[in-house]
Amino acid sequence: MEKIETLFSWLDHTAEMIEASQNEPYLDCLAHAMEILFYREVSNIDDDLTAKKIEKSLQTIDLKEFQQIEIRKAVQMAILKGMKENTQQQHLITPEAVALFIGYLANKFMSRQDTVTLFDPACGTSNLLTTVIGQLHKSVEAYGSDVDPTLMRLSLANANLQEMEIEFFQQDSLRPFLMAPVDLVVSDLPVGYYPDDVNASQYKLKAEEGHSYAHHLFIEQSLTYTKEAGYLIILVPNFLFTSDQAEQLQTFLKEHAHIYGLLQLPESIFKSKANAKSILVLQKKGPGTATPKQPLLVQLPSFKNEKAMADIIGQMNTWFSKYL
Ligand code: SAM
Repeated sequence: MEKIETLFSWLDHTAEMIEASQNEPYLDCLAHAMEILFYREVSNIDDDLTAKKIEKSLQTIDLKEFQQIEIRKAVQMAILKGMKENTQQQHLITPEAVALFIGYLANKFMSRQDTVTLFDPACGTSNLLTTVIGQLHKSVEAYGSDVDPTLMRLSLANANLQEMEIEFFQQDSLRPFLMAPVDLVVSDLPVGYYPDDVNASQYKLKAEEGHSYAHHLFIEQSLTYTKEAGYLIILVPNFLFTSDQAEQLQTFLKEHAHIYGLLQLPESIFKSKANAKSILVLQKKGPGTATPKQPLLVQLPSFKNEKAMADIIGQMNTWFSKYL
């Protein structure tokens, strides 16, 4: 904890110095501070006094003294601070407990593979993506995409600091990628309407009328970039299968995927009931794939309830050895 706090303080203090000098939003200044720490070079600071102060404080910190997980947590703390101050709705980070849980599931579903190709089409700050990579304990070829330039800059700096090789695309992820399909997609999908009706019209899951649901189009796009028999572990809104376009989605999923699991997360970790999410696990159909005899349907307890959580993990481990 002490190490995490040391690194967090350095990042936070440096970001605040940059913020005061450059008059830019905290999250951009944080990305700038992370770049300075990674390249060990103070660049693009307009006033000499601030540049000198940062150069001096750079001598007090050495990345080699921190483990990957300490770096991830310190970065996460600083990003969370920036997001609290910020009012941009799309600036969200996948909560730590949820990211770790998705990492556990990823490990289970990828247990028979020595190497894994992994993609997050809505990677944001890459907190979820780097948490999953850190937990997979195997050779991973990773890709991430997000439309937001600030989050992409944070993602790149985050991956660099954690010494993780990730190929990033800064683009609308509902447009085509120059990327081969992967073994596993993990993602905390954006929820809401997709404003580009022209692009949406190319999707099977487009709305009959008006704007399409971004989360539906993201599911279709994620399946396109998943190998046959590959898996998707995605965070979806609880209302996914009860909304007005749910029937269309269910018909589409029946044709293209097997539903392996639906795990409802504890409501307490979300701002409100309407924002609550579940983890949906899909397998893309392919030769030799079949509908699971019994899908994994779980109502997760509070992550703070260690006893209940241990019980559920025990039951899930039994499910994995029986049905996967
Ligand atoms: N897992 C991320 C993390 O740990 O930081 C958080 C993901 S956040 C819930 C959803 C992300 O979707 C946001 O970062 C947002 O910028 C991105 N997004 C929304 N619409 C998009 C689009 N059309 N193309 C690419 N990214 C998009």
